[in-house]
Amino acid sequence: MDILVVGSVAFDTIETPFGKGDDVLGGSATYFSTSASFFTGVKLVAVVGDDFPDEPKEFLTSCGVDLAGLQTQPGATFRWKGRYGYDLNEAHTLETHLNVFETFHPQLPESYRNAEYVFLANIDPELQLEVLKQVENPKLVACDTMNFWIEGKRDALIKTLGHVDILVINEAEVRQLANEANLVKASKAVLAMGPKTLVVKRGEYGVLVFNEHSIFSAPAYPLEEVYDPTGAGDTFAGGFMGYLAATDNPNEETIRKATVFGSVMASFTVEDFSLNRLRKLDWNEVEERFRHFQALTAFAGL
Ligand code: AMP
Repeated sequence: MDILVVGSVAFDTIETPFGKGDDVLGGSATYFSTSASFFTGVKLVAVVGDDFPDEPKEFLTSCGVDLAGLQTQPGATFRWKGRYGYDLNEAHTLETHLNVFETFHPQLPESYRNAEYVFLANIDPELQLEVLKQVENPKLVACDTMNFWIEGKRDALIKTLGHVDILVINEAEVRQLANEANLVKASKAVLAMGPKTLVVKRGEYGVLVFNEHSIFSAPAYPLEEVYDPTGAGDTFAGGFMGYLAATDNPNEETIRKATVFGSVMASFTVEDFSLNRLRKLDWNEVEERFRHFQALTAFAGL
């Protein structure tokens, strides 16, 4: 099953303690699509400016990403500038320039409308809902967001969450959305907003998956080299949704395995700037790291 994704395609300027990238390829939909394309086909919905070069489009197409829903508008592509300190779990946003996203209204190509798996990647929640309304009968809808939208478009975000099966956000955002410091209580409050499953990304501390009945915990892969955490969350979501769409049987067991595939994919992205590591990645490396994850968490029962 293909996945339809709406999100940002961007140029990022990033500083980490290990280096700097100026106007490098980024964006939530870009990381998501590249990661998900290891598992299944992806149909992308986004907008770029007329300053956007051909090479990233050729790259995405070569990964099997359908760009029929990528519009080009006069003006500048979305730009994000962020900095990370030695605590790589926390991104400090320095600048957000929505540019062509400010006036963007997605119009889904006919071939996108029967999508069964939909991922609303981090973007204006009003746009997320506009896209969702054009999808005929989705089987599974998952969504991401960030502090920028929780602060700036809270009501629209809560409306979107009413239509979402799985919410994938980071720990600080769960607390901010719920106005609650305790993560377990905050998660219950967020589940009450609509999603049946909440996937909480905790950077180098891994992932917690909450639903009404259970909690699942997956570690992050212990890496020696971490250069740039940008895109880790979107890459996680790409592996997570990619596995669910490819197996087309979403249930508690497949969601757990999808969580590990998401963690595997994210662990590669942070090893280099921008999409550089994903561009070199092959499927054998994904499988090998998946096996390492299994070994990392295996222990005997009582
Ligand atoms: P993450 O996976 O959470 O590290 O997301 C990183 C990507 O999100 C970057 O490549 C940015 O271009 C993109 N981004 C940052 N801020 C926003 C925003 N407000 N809306 C949409 N995308 C954003």
